[in-house]
Amino acid sequence: MTVAAALFLVARNLPVRHGFTLRSGGVSEGKRATLDLGPAADAGADVHENRMRLARAAGLQADRLVLAEQVHGTAVVRARPGVLPEADALWTEGPEAWIGIRTADCVPVLLSSEDGARVAAVHSGWRGTVARIAETSVAALACEGTPPEALRAAIGPAIGACCYEVSEDLAGRFAGAFGAEVVRREGDRPRLDLRLAVRRTLVASGVPETHIEDVPGCNACDATRFFSHRRDRGGTGRHLAFIAPGLVS
Ligand SMILES: [Zn+2]
Repeated sequence: MTVAAALFLVARNLPVRHGFTLRSGGVSEGKRATLDLGPAADAGADVHENRMRLARAAGLQADRLVLAEQVHGTAVVRARPGVLPEADALWTEGPEAWIGIRTADCVPVLLSSEDGARVAAVHSGWRGTVARIAETSVAALACEGTPPEALRAAIGPAIGACCYEVSEDLAGRFAGAFGAEVVRREGDRPRLDLRLAVRRTLVASGVPETHIEDVPGCNACDATRFFSHRRDRGGTGRHLAFIAPGLVS
C-alpha cells in the first residue's frame, strides 16, 4: 500500500472532516517552508496554492474556507462566506463553509457536536487561555442548541510544557487560574502546560473529560513537523486547524 505524505494530523474522536496541518507538503520557501497557511488576508500565491493542496487532501472546496483576523481576543463568531471577522474562534453549520484558525505555538482546539452538524475552531494562545476562549466557544455552541456534554473536542499540537518558558508573574497567574499542575518547575524558569490549561477549561465548561482528545506534538521541539513562532523568532509559517460540518460516512 502506498501512503501519500500526510498534510495534517487528525483526532480519532471527531466525526467530521478536520485536521491539524503539518509543515511539509507545500510550496512556500525560506522560514515559511513549506505548507504555510499564512495570513488570513493578503496571502501570497504560495499560500493560495497550499490552501488548494490542503482542500484537495481533505476532500473540501477551497473557496468555502472561512478564516478570521485573529487578535488574541475572545470573540466567537459564526462563519459567513466572504466575510473575514476579527475573532479568535469561529463556528459554523450547514454546507456553505468550513473553518480554520491559524497557529504557530498557540493551542488550536476543534469542537464538533456528536452528530457532526455544528463545529467550531478555537485559537487559544496564553492570552486566550487566560480569558477562557474555549469556555466562551462551548457556551456559544450551547446557545445554538449543542450542550457541552454532546461535544467532542480535540486539542492540537502547540508549544509544549517542555519548551514554553514564561515569567514568574505569568506562571503565577496560570497556577492561580488553572491549578499548580499547569506550571512545570524543573528548569531555571517556570514553563507552562498551555494544553492542560485548555483541557481544564473545557472540562470546567461541561465537556466530559472522556470526550477530549489530545493530538500530541510540541511545535518548538519538532522543527521537521511544525512551525514555531518562538523557536523561529517570528517570520515563520502558520498551521491551520480546520474543521467542516457534516458526518464522514
Ligand atoms: Zn518542546
